[in-house]
Amino acid sequence: MRIRVKLTFIYSIITVAILLFFASVIYYSSHKSREEEFYTALEQEAITKANLFFIAQVDSTVLQTIYRSNIEVINEVEVAIYDPYFNLLYHDAEDIDHVKETPAMIDQIIEEGNIRFYQNDWQVIGVHYKYGDDSYVITATSYDIYGYSKLADLKRTILMVFIFSIVIIVITGYYFSRKAFSPVRRMINKVEKISASSLDLRVYSPNNKDELALLADTFNNMLDRLESSFNAQKEFVSNISHELRTPLTAIITELDLALNNEKDAGEYKEVISNALSDARRISTFSANLLDFAKAGYDPREIHFEIVRCDEIILEAVHSVTRLFNSFNVDLRYDDTLNSSSEELLVYGNNYLLKTAFEKIIENGCKYSEDNKCEVVLRHDGKTVFIDIIDKGAGIDEKDIENIFTPFFRGSNHSLAEGSGIGLPLAQRIINLHNGTIVVESTINKGSLFIVSIPLVTS
Ligand code: ADP
Repeated sequence: MRIRVKLTFIYSIITVAILLFFASVIYYSSHKSREEEFYTALEQEAITKANLFFIAQVDSTVLQTIYRSNIEVINEVEVAIYDPYFNLLYHDAEDIDHVKETPAMIDQIIEEGNIRFYQNDWQVIGVHYKYGDDSYVITATSYDIYGYSKLADLKRTILMVFIFSIVIIVITGYYFSRKAFSPVRRMINKVEKISASSLDLRVYSPNNKDELALLADTFNNMLDRLESSFNAQKEFVSNISHELRTPLTAIITELDLALNNEKDAGEYKEVISNALSDARRISTFSANLLDFAKAGYDPREIHFEIVRCDEIILEAVHSVTRLFNSFNVDLRYDDTLNSSSEELLVYGNNYLLKTAFEKIIENGCKYSEDNKCEVVLRHDGKTVFIDIIDKGAGIDEKDIENIFTPFFRGSNHSLAEGSGIGLPLAQRIINLHNGTIVVESTINKGSLFIVSIPLVTS
């Protein structure tokens, strides 16, 4: 069942229940007050007739004549007077005789002083009446024709108002729930139109800042994030294909030329060497991509353990200098370390951390004319800091904010080969280790990359 229908239903049920309760209370209290008023009237009539009979000594036949003539026009009260021994002293109309008195009833009236009960729909009272030293029992009965008809009128009115109210309640309930949910319907219609190819669409957000507007805003914010992530993915894929296509086209062109033109051994060697260097570029690039993907995994899927950060940096330095013979890295331990063999333990993944340091150290060397950089290790007891310092080209101020964006290459890119994936990869890895990378750079003076990772303290 739809929420709208459900709400209308619940709202109607509750309102109808309240109405029903009020209607019942009104009807019941009217019924009770009619009953009470009529008993009182019966009692007054009984006493009045007894007074006429005993005190005013009005003749029985007069009283009976009055009764018989009134009965035609109004609902006259039928009165009977007995002595305590069940001897009938007076009766308005013995031939009609609505109340069938019994000795037990007479005894009960004497004992209780006053009784009230129904005989069919006729109300009956019994009163213990005292006149001088003698006591008598009076019974009086009548049918409250006006009271019942007023009650029936009230019942009819209540029923009509009740039915009318139900109709109004259901219609207004449905109308207002429809109105309240119309933004939701608009949202649903819009969401149905949103697909991967139309991520620029946004759902309708009502102006008032209610829960629905909040929901729409949250949804739109999510779409913003999705859209930018989709665009980033698209850009990522096109960057990758571009990075792969350039060296592949170079390899194909060179090999084609070599195949179609006679060359001497030296020229063939040069062609092979060029093709090999392009193939290596592709290989490095794909290895970087793979690492980038690994660093993008959920941290729970990466194997973390307590590792020695100082050892990892040493390994990274060795692997960079082994790969690039011309690179020179000076590794130094700051005074904060007691000895060069002090263990700097961090919680991390050996392979990923080594890759991150390799990328930053490699950059330090490759963007410096002298291919040199310095790595300084220090700590403050809680965090290990690794400073990678070079006196190279430096980074343009406007480039600094983008250097961690995948495939971004700064204005100094012509100084060295690259694909713009080294620093984003390093940052992802360091972030996975709850660390940070801070950059300070001055153009033509050099750069300082400060990597900080929390230490494992015992
Ligand atoms: P690349 O493959 O281009 O080196 P990176 O992601 O490693 O890609 O670096 C992004 C950009 O940051 C580089 O293109 C370069 O402009 C700049 N950069 C990074 N490290 C340095 C550095 N040590 N000195 C100067 N520029 C640097």
